[in-house]
Amino acid sequence: MKADTQVRGRIAPSPSGYMHLGNAFSALLAWAFARSAGGSFVLRLEDLDERCQNPVYAKGLLDDLSWLGIDWDGEPVVQANRVPAYEEALERIASRAEIYPCFCSRADLHAASAPHASDGTPLYAGTCYSMDADERETRAAGQRHALRLHVSDETIGFVDAIQGPYEQNLARECGDFVLRRSDGVFAYQLVCVVDDIASGVTQVVRGSDLLSSTPRQILLYELLDASIPEFAHHPLLLAADGRRLSKRDGDSTIASMRERGITPETVIGYLAQLAGQAEEAEPMSARELAGIFDASKIPTRDMTVDLSCLEA
Ligand code: GLU
Repeated sequence: MKADTQVRGRIAPSPSGYMHLGNAFSALLAWAFARSAGGSFVLRLEDLDERCQNPVYAKGLLDDLSWLGIDWDGEPVVQANRVPAYEEALERIASRAEIYPCFCSRADLHAASAPHASDGTPLYAGTCYSMDADERETRAAGQRHALRLHVSDETIGFVDAIQGPYEQNLARECGDFVLRRSDGVFAYQLVCVVDDIASGVTQVVRGSDLLSSTPRQILLYELLDASIPEFAHHPLLLAADGRRLSKRDGDSTIASMRERGITPETVIGYLAQLAGQAEEAEPMSARELAGIFDASKIPTRDMTVDLSCLEA
């Protein structure tokens, strides 16, 4: 098969804690998608949020990825260095769409009796959108505020490479969304799109918890006149009690597996089985997985992990 050198994949982890098995699953799938097509792969640290600024976690992440055999091309992109690019993108969007200051506090947002958006956040009731223009200007000069993008009553759909067709009416299911938070930090939706465009990413593989963000992101691609990448949202790994695997599940961190003497091949073999790539959890390297990878075999439903499968 001829390598498709056009594919450029990425992972964009938030270094807010030690990498756990769910993060490793996500990284491995994104990497295998790109590498199995002979493509390149970018690593970006989504570190704008204060919780992500502990260098121990960023270093741990790079070490754990390397231990697993997941490599990347070039230097990691660090969002903390990219604020001017976000400011410029915000201006470009503002020249083509309506961005307005929002003074609502978190409590205001929860108190508003709006229905909930598909990802569980309250649907913004448009309080500050309907504010009188003079009042808005006076308040914006002296009061901390977020910046929201006004969305129109339009449905944005796409075909996800794992989940199939997905669509959302932005006005009804999402509402006007934040591009810059009231603490001045640029919002995930904006920075993710600006960075994926800047890195030339053609393929976004990530957890299905972000499926409902994708229509908003597609709108931003359109407003920034950029080509829209392929999207693939994989199922999530759950702890035995049905919660999403998280940093709190200490035994599931890659660091603790390394300490317990578990090999990277054992971890990859187990993740490959969960991803539908192998019948049994036979040890294999990341490279071997890329060699047999078949995206059409990835299941769509979330899966409960059994960490005892990793013990010798
Ligand atoms: N930073 C996000 C996370 O760690 C991922 C964002 C993305 O892949 O678009 O969940």
